[in-house]
Amino acid sequence: MTRVPVRDDLSTLEGYHSPQVTVDVRLNTNEAPVGPPMAFREALAVEMSRIDWNRYPDRAATTLRTAIGALHGVGPDQIFVANGSNEVLQTVLLTFAGPGRTVATFEPTYQLHGHIARITGATVVEGERAADFSIDMSEVRRVVSQSRPHVTFLCSPNNPTGGVDAPSVVRDVLALAPGLLVVDEAYGQFAGWSAVGLIDEKTPLVVSRTFSKTWSMAASRLGYLVGPRWLVAELDKVVLPYHLDTVKQIAGTLAVRFLDEMNERVRAIVAERERVMSALRVLELDVFDSGANFVLFRPRNMGGRAVWQGLLDHSVLIRDCSSWPRLDDCLRVTIGTPAEDDRFLSAITEVLS
Ligand code: PMP
Repeated sequence: MTRVPVRDDLSTLEGYHSPQVTVDVRLNTNEAPVGPPMAFREALAVEMSRIDWNRYPDRAATTLRTAIGALHGVGPDQIFVANGSNEVLQTVLLTFAGPGRTVATFEPTYQLHGHIARITGATVVEGERAADFSIDMSEVRRVVSQSRPHVTFLCSPNNPTGGVDAPSVVRDVLALAPGLLVVDEAYGQFAGWSAVGLIDEKTPLVVSRTFSKTWSMAASRLGYLVGPRWLVAELDKVVLPYHLDTVKQIAGTLAVRFLDEMNERVRAIVAERERVMSALRVLELDVFDSGANFVLFRPRNMGGRAVWQGLLDHSVLIRDCSSWPRLDDCLRVTIGTPAEDDRFLSAITEVLS
């Protein structure tokens, strides 16, 4: 059979790769190290038995949106929900990017921002971050004035570098960017502040969040954004009808009832992150500051790829960023349980010696 050609603009597109390998200690995809509380699982099992399986889900997901909105002090009309924050971002880009439009990113950052934007047919303009991977305002000024982007991305804490943008940075980018500013806060709960407080009806700003990390629900694929009402209404027109299944709507609504447990887990991960960073700093490594549940580092006297392989030989899998642009020799480790982190720290100490 003859292959049918894909769209011309997709012919050179590469897929997003994140290898899944079977190992003892998996610290490569920034998931939560433990599952949700047992009481959540039990409540979910009860609710599952009551589902009207012959009926479509609530198309507006009102109960879930109300529950998420309450977390941020806003109503359901300011919350858009989808299958993971990746689908949230895809819906934003289908609505505001697309052919003939421009999207700005500041690299290195989360690869999916540019990747999804290209799939919608938009032109992606890549600005550069400063040497310490913070946002360089003169570069923002250059990119924004040259390209007049329809959508500009920030990522705070930034994946894979870990840094948090200061409130003044988000405000300054907002003042400069002519179109929509998206602040991806997939790791927002691990940082000291959130841009959600800057959202109002007159400001072209949205903040995206996920249940995959803090809420220990990566298996369920649930993400959302907080934004102005008019913008959420536009996204609701673009997303497929009934895109969010009943199981997920129930799971998300139940999860937010466990806010105290989740906050406790965040506190434990942040404490563990500080412990891991201190331990890494005494090794032959450059360690970048992190406000997330992962840490980026660069071995000083060994190639990053060799260190990654050495860890894999100890059955510890972390993320190899060493061949990514601007990230020569860099590796990223997700904070795990104290036992997993100990395994990682003793393995890397051996590998480096
Ligand atoms: N944004 C960032 C910065 C991420 O790191 C991730 C997960 N790797 C996502 C969004 C997507 O998260 P999900 O689709 O699981 O909600």
